[in-house]
Amino acid sequence: MAFEDLYQEIILDHYRHPRNFAPVEELSDGTVHENPTCGDSIRLSVEVGGGVITSVRFNARGCAISVASASMMSDQLGGLPVREALERILAFLRILRGEEAPEALEAWGDLAALGGVAKYPIRVKCATLAWHAAWESLQPEPANAAGGS
Ligand code: ZN
Repeated sequence: MAFEDLYQEIILDHYRHPRNFAPVEELSDGTVHENPTCGDSIRLSVEVGGGVITSVRFNARGCAISVASASMMSDQLGGLPVREALERILAFLRILRGEEAPEALEAWGDLAALGGVAKYPIRVKCATLAWHAAWESLQPEPANAAGGS
């Protein structure tokens, strides 16, 4: 598949050097999310203190898009107030579903590299996996992972 238009360099950099990556052993309480379509999986641990996200760490296996998106997600959401993080997650999901123009991502640094993924429906699940995981981690009462694993 051709990704010339997808800011390939940025994506590969996050894939090879994911930010906030942690060994599985350190994330034993993290939630696991999978995208069986592609074989991607992520284990995510989000810590919140005083309404602010103090730490986002993850371990992921899968394609370059899924790992890079998880890395960018951890960069984006770390340090944000929970309320703002939830809004950003929703906005990202809307863009990836093609409901909003990808230009909105350009204000969010490296995330701009994922805007083009919206044109490849099979890849959207790869790019949104980590964000769905983050959304669930931030709910006051963790919902049952309906349709998850
Ligand atoms: Zn994938």
